[in-house]
Amino acid sequence: MSAIELKNVSFSYVLSETEIVRAVRNVSLEIEEGSFVAIVGHNGSGKSTLAKLLNGLLIPDKGTVKVFGIDTKEKSTIYEVRKNVGMVFQNPDNQMVASIIEDDIAFGPENLGVKREEIVERVDWALSQVGMLEHKKGTPFKLSGGQKQRLAIAGIIAMKPKVLVLDESTAMLDPQGRAEVMRVAHELNKKEGMTVICITHYMEEALEADRLIVMSDGKVVLDNIPKLVFAQSKELLDYKLTVPLATQAAIELENLGISVGKDVMNKEELVERLCPLL
Ligand code: ADP
Ligand code: MG
Repeated sequence: MSAIELKNVSFSYVLSETEIVRAVRNVSLEIEEGSFVAIVGHNGSGKSTLAKLLNGLLIPDKGTVKVFGIDTKEKSTIYEVRKNVGMVFQNPDNQMVASIIEDDIAFGPENLGVKREEIVERVDWALSQVGMLEHKKGTPFKLSGGQKQRLAIAGIIAMKPKVLVLDESTAMLDPQGRAEVMRVAHELNKKEGMTVICITHYMEEALEADRLIVMSDGKVVLDNIPKLVFAQSKELLDYKLTVPLATQAAIELENLGISVGKDVMNKEELVERLCPLL
């Protein structure tokens, strides 16, 4: 079943009578339930606008967005849509509401009207999913960036969304923090069956997805398994994206007639392909 279905979706920001920005242009997509999808694209390519269309924060000017079959245009069911699609944004500091961690996590489910006993369970569940249970009684302000972002994820998953959208949620983190957040996202996907949509500008993160969507100027321009998207290095450069270094090296080698394959993803794979040739 598709978790999310977009049909010919367009969205423009109207700045003035004469100025409009066509941020998303005629996008059609289906996101399978349980999949881990990465979205990449240059700045301003429409990724965040697309993300906001997925949970009804924005409503398309044209076309339809359906979340588990529910049209986001329907005002009476928008609450269902928002509940099903949780979003984590870039800046971890803007996503905390309470000075004690457990209260912060409880905030979302409280707003959903979840019963007290269940909130207590959900707080523990969400914090343990992100490896932060021991911080339950602590304050969020002293945490590292990676911990804060994992906390933001806990706050969202405490509302039990079926889809988790990460909009450049690792952009402000150091490599360790990024790895922590990505590990949590993959675990939620594998163990809890949560559908994950990960918008990122880190190609290493995109590589680990089941599917990679490339956006450029508001359109979906490539959509395939990551290996095959990365094999299209020329197109990626046209879309102002860079290919992982090992992939670039493999492509250069191929161009020199040394056949290692253009689908090399990291240096270990490159070594593996090169060794038999020596
Ligand atoms: P991305 O997340 O890929 O960087 P965005 O969806 O944020 O792209 O932006 C797509 C286009 O829409 C850009 O040209 C951007 O300047 C414009 N845009 C984004 N948000 C707004 C807004 N709130 N008001 C006006 N224009 C916006
Ligand atoms: Mg963005």
